[in-house]
Amino acid sequence: MVTAPISLAEAQQRIIKQLRQDPGLQPTRLGTERVDLIQAFGRVLATDLASPVDVPAFAASAMDGYAVRSSDSVFQNTAPHVLPVVGESRAGGGKPAPLPENSAMRIFTGAPLPPGADSVLIQENVEALSPDVDSAGQPRIRTQERTQPGQHRRPAGHDVRAGESLFSAGTRLNGFALGQLRACGITTVDVYRLLRVGVFATGDELREPEATLAFGQIVETNRFTLHSLLRPLPVEVVDLGILPDDPDLLRQHMRQAAETCDVLLTSGGVSVGDADHVKPVLEEIGELSFWKIAMKPGKPVAFGRIDDTLFFGLPGNPVSTLVTCLLLVKPALYQLAGTEPPQALRVPATAMHAFTHNPGRLEFQRGWYAAAELGLQVRNTGDQSSNRLRSFHQANCLIEVPADQARIEAGEQV
Ligand code: AMP
Ligand code: MG
Repeated sequence: MVTAPISLAEAQQRIIKQLRQDPGLQPTRLGTERVDLIQAFGRVLATDLASPVDVPAFAASAMDGYAVRSSDSVFQNTAPHVLPVVGESRAGGGKPAPLPENSAMRIFTGAPLPPGADSVLIQENVEALSPDVDSAGQPRIRTQERTQPGQHRRPAGHDVRAGESLFSAGTRLNGFALGQLRACGITTVDVYRLLRVGVFATGDELREPEATLAFGQIVETNRFTLHSLLRPLPVEVVDLGILPDDPDLLRQHMRQAAETCDVLLTSGGVSVGDADHVKPVLEEIGELSFWKIAMKPGKPVAFGRIDDTLFFGLPGNPVSTLVTCLLLVKPALYQLAGTEPPQALRVPATAMHAFTHNPGRLEFQRGWYAAAELGLQVRNTGDQSSNRLRSFHQANCLIEVPADQARIEAGEQV
């Protein structure tokens, strides 16, 4: 059993290392399912995907104007160049006839280039001449421009070529990816099954808000805040209710939940009080990896497993629960779900006020940052006590206060 506190960085490294190395914790254990694209938003791709086709499938015009052959003799003479207009090509208007030499075809954005044409004169650089006796009633154009090969032309496969790799397994599909897949004619994809994350709250004092609260009881909130925090992830959150501080019930429910969930989160009962049974129960029915981290809020955190179910016992204070979930659980869940955790942006900002801090533990205050003339500035959200959910009000960042720094002055960088 590890009793000395470890650093947050070490805790994060140990978790990621275990997840990478443990054959029982690889995303392939989740299995895959085939889903329609519309259901695939936010899911993690289980296979590599290449495009079966060229996109676009045909050479098309990028502009409204006139398709021409850049090598035509009419362009070798000095400007202006005058060309007869033979027909037109519209987007969705079918296959255009081949373009004869020394002539132009009216064309619109996205319309196929006629065979023979290799370039487009944009209409802004062209003067349409009214038909006259000379042209025997045929419309003509005049331009000063000597066109270049390939000008304003989108070749076939300009966006994606047939056989080109699109996405590799482990990619989390966002709207852009879905659009790209759809453009390539792919309508279903194989994704990993969602990671099942079971969430318990523990504590004799916790009640649902509908209950009449006896003196000393409080409304349970951690299941709600955890659920909201985890909703955007590729996971399915399973609400497992509130458990009392009773080791027998904890043992029974944790065992049972481990059979159906890939990950279990509990809040509360991981400290060293007489009512804190989560840690001993975990040691009894599973394995405990560590339980004290030198961070504030959130010192006691139990990490371990029950068979192939990963276990996080988070502290019960509402702020500690969320901060430890953000810093330790979230990255692990991405990894377990089969995709790289997004890197949190860590940037310097100017403190808008002085910060005081009890040296010893790395502290994460809830903060509000905004762009200022010379970079970012940041303030905290008031009283940072770990029972105050209100300290998340309007917060858009966490402010790192280094373990050994007792005071940060206004104007200093944090
Ligand atoms: P614990 O970690 O069990 O010692 O709990 C620390 C503090 O957080 C206590 O004041 C608990 O009443 C409170 N607490 C624990 N779990 C919850 C919860 N799920 N919702 C709201 N407050 C909680
Ligand atoms: Mg408790």
